[in-house]
Amino acid sequence: MTIAIVGAGLGGLALARVLHVNGIDAVVYERESSRRARGQGGMLDIHSGQRALREAGLIDEFYAIARGEGQDMRLLEPDGTLLLQEDTPDDAPLDRPEVDRADLRDLLLDSLPEGVVRWGHAYKSADNGLLHFVDGSSATYDLLVGADGAHSRVRALLTDARPAHIGQNVVEVGIPDIDRTHPDLAAMVGRGNYWVLGNGLSLAAQRNGDGRVRIGLSFYNTPEDWFATSGIPFDDPSAARARLIDLLHGWDSRFTALIAACDDTIVPRPITTLPVGLTWPSKPDVTLLGDAAHLMPPVGEGANMALLDGALLGLALAAHPDDFPAAVKEYEREMFERTSAAARMSADIQELLMSPDAAQKMLAFFQPG
Ligand SMILES: Cc1cc2nc3c(=O)[nH]c(=O)nc-3n(C[C@H](O)[C@H](O)[C@H](O)COP(=O)(O)OP(=O)(O)OC[C@H]3O[C@@H](n4cnc5c(N)ncnc54)[C@H](O)[C@@H]3O)c2cc1C
Repeated sequence: MTIAIVGAGLGGLALARVLHVNGIDAVVYERESSRRARGQGGMLDIHSGQRALREAGLIDEFYAIARGEGQDMRLLEPDGTLLLQEDTPDDAPLDRPEVDRADLRDLLLDSLPEGVVRWGHAYKSADNGLLHFVDGSSATYDLLVGADGAHSRVRALLTDARPAHIGQNVVEVGIPDIDRTHPDLAAMVGRGNYWVLGNGLSLAAQRNGDGRVRIGLSFYNTPEDWFATSGIPFDDPSAARARLIDLLHGWDSRFTALIAACDDTIVPRPITTLPVGLTWPSKPDVTLLGDAAHLMPPVGEGANMALLDGALLGLALAAHPDDFPAAVKEYEREMFERTSAAARMSADIQELLMSPDAAQKMLAFFQPG
């Protein structure tokens, strides 16, 4: 019985690893040509997903790469008022440590036998137990798992649902090697998360393991075509930074100094999600996990749910090695319930972030009562 996993992201790799520790072979087909073919993103806070790493036999290795101090948090208002500062004590439990996405992906990749991941295999379509790749090659499968992320192509085998824009557009920028290049700004941002929430706009800066501070500027209640009308010249980084500073009109000069210090990597990221509570009638030979199944707003659940999906599908298959359709049904029943709850919670946080008094609401969220 051949298990074909499309996508070597966190969810697909967690599945392959849990299958491997349970003595079941699988093949992972990944579109990228190698593990470093493109940047692997920033930091992820891993909480419920730790269970997946335990099932994968990798929890100690995870703690070795996790950054406890990455849990530090500073919450401010655009005029510079500090609303909340939480510094993580050295002996604090690693409940929600931050980890570099590239490090976590490397941990999972290195835990798999040579040849499990087939790089340079972009999925195109599937029919009658045969996978077709963009380069014209093909492969057989008994069970196909779509772990191919937000823009999943496998998804179409199960549902017509498509991600829809949620009125948030993010511009990602960053300051490399901040300790050396801008020690004053490094001290201001601190070791973890630095959030400034304003009316319709937010700045989220975060220190990464490699000394880069990644900054996401979110523009809320903006339409899908906003980047085209925003006046941000993405092909001219210096003019784009100047325009972003204009858009932060009235914000404390410390925040605009952060943007002025950024390098030339400026990435527009429109935010889309799948409908909350998406389900589909179970099929015996195909299922989805991670963002392909339940793309949520980027508020800290996506990677955790993907890891859990992968691990729990792996355990279900290990429990029913001769009955994949039963394993898929069992997995989907639990996954739909768990990820619907996470998607509802994420949508609530998203609503809070989009509200006019986001900073005060976030303060109340962190300090209830
Ligand atoms: C490069 C990258 C950087 C990211 N950076 C961040 C970040 O900084 N912060 C954050 O919160 N989240 C980030 N994410 C998203 C986050 O990793 C996911 O939301 C979460 O981990 C869910 O994981 P997943 O396994 O479902 O999907 P993903 O981790 O997105 O993995 C999907 C995988 O499928 C592959 N794939 C896609 N289409 C095909 C195809 N047709 N054929 C074969 N393979 C295909 C992709 O190349 C990718 O490796 C990033 C994702 C990627 C791919």
